[in-house]
Amino acid sequence: MPRKLTQSVNVNGVRIGGGAPIVVQSMTNTDTEDAIRTAAQVADLARAGSELVRITVNTEAAARAVPEIRDRLLSMDVDVPLVGDFHFNGHKLLASVPECAKALAKYRINPGNVGRGSKRDTQFSQMIQIAIDNDKPVRIGANWGSLDQELLARLLDENAASSNPKPLDTINREAVIESALGSAQRAEELGMARDKIIISCKMSRVQDLVMVYEELAKKSDYCLHLGLTEAGMGSKGIVASTAALAVLLQQGVGDTIRISLTPEPNGDRTKEVVVGQEILQTMGLRSFTPMVTACPGCGRTSSTYFQELANRIQTYLRERMPEWKNHHPGVEDMTVAVMGCVVNGPGESKHANIGISLPGTGERPIAPVYIDGEKAMTLKGDHIAEEFQHIVQEYVESHYAQTG
Ligand code: SF4
Repeated sequence: MPRKLTQSVNVNGVRIGGGAPIVVQSMTNTDTEDAIRTAAQVADLARAGSELVRITVNTEAAARAVPEIRDRLLSMDVDVPLVGDFHFNGHKLLASVPECAKALAKYRINPGNVGRGSKRDTQFSQMIQIAIDNDKPVRIGANWGSLDQELLARLLDENAASSNPKPLDTINREAVIESALGSAQRAEELGMARDKIIISCKMSRVQDLVMVYEELAKKSDYCLHLGLTEAGMGSKGIVASTAALAVLLQQGVGDTIRISLTPEPNGDRTKEVVVGQEILQTMGLRSFTPMVTACPGCGRTSSTYFQELANRIQTYLRERMPEWKNHHPGVEDMTVAVMGCVVNGPGESKHANIGISLPGTGERPIAPVYIDGEKAMTLKGDHIAEEFQHIVQEYVESHYAQTG
């Protein structure tokens, strides 16, 4: 599907917009003042495939920790661009800790949280000037939950005085769009180049997000960051984010995405990266890691063995990707099928690069393996999983050029 052509923004070598592949980003939930833990989580997110990582910069100690986080990452060979998330005191922190302003690759400015009254314009201008002086791009990120209250009040007054007033939800959507676009225009008037600006308007309801971004895409050619804010926990967060983003991505809207999942207590933060990649890959927009096709299982799968194998192979493929990505280009397009019985097993296996059809209830305890559509061998016994993994490894080495 054609992508809407937007400004191309360069964030420390990562190109966003202008037809570049859609970028997946994420955000830490550690205390940024704790440079060791924050650097470790950024490294985890980057290794999972996050191409930009945003960190909260909310105190002077957090701002001072940013260069240390940057250095720790470089010493771990992790060169992912760091984005600073600023609210209320960003102008002060960037001015008082210039090393932070330099170490960050991009600043996120929420126009609803820059300051109140007359201070708002001054503080916004200060942040934009620091970005210009340091040659950094910015994301002007309006958020439904922290809307510019003065702007909203003005729009509500105008609406109340109108002969044909619009519903409140419509005014809220118009306010968030005007907040982002008006701030971007102000940044340009202050001297910021158009290709240094990314826009986002985060909403927490799917239909609102779709309507707002459709309007943004019509009204401007700014590079667009997509994300449903406060998407929620578990399957609800994944489903809501996917529903919203898929509609927009299908229309060619969106240059970079973040999936804002609420992690389970002690849950893995990298899940938001995996979900973002899977949305793009299952839509055929970008490939990141070989995909496993697995049947849902049914009364014919008498044990959990087949689920365990599908999970084991998916985990194995993800774990190997950091190395394969460097040495076996193209492997991210490989498909692997793990099927539970002979009903659909052989057919689905033949469509994949490699497929295995495990024995269902009452079937002979053998597992035919298909390679490039042809039956290549039959596995049996207690080591089917290990042998199949070995076959996958050999396939990668022989079919995707070894480099480096
Ligand atoms: S392939 Fe077999 S086990 Fe899997 S869902 Fe279909 S019938 Fe059930």
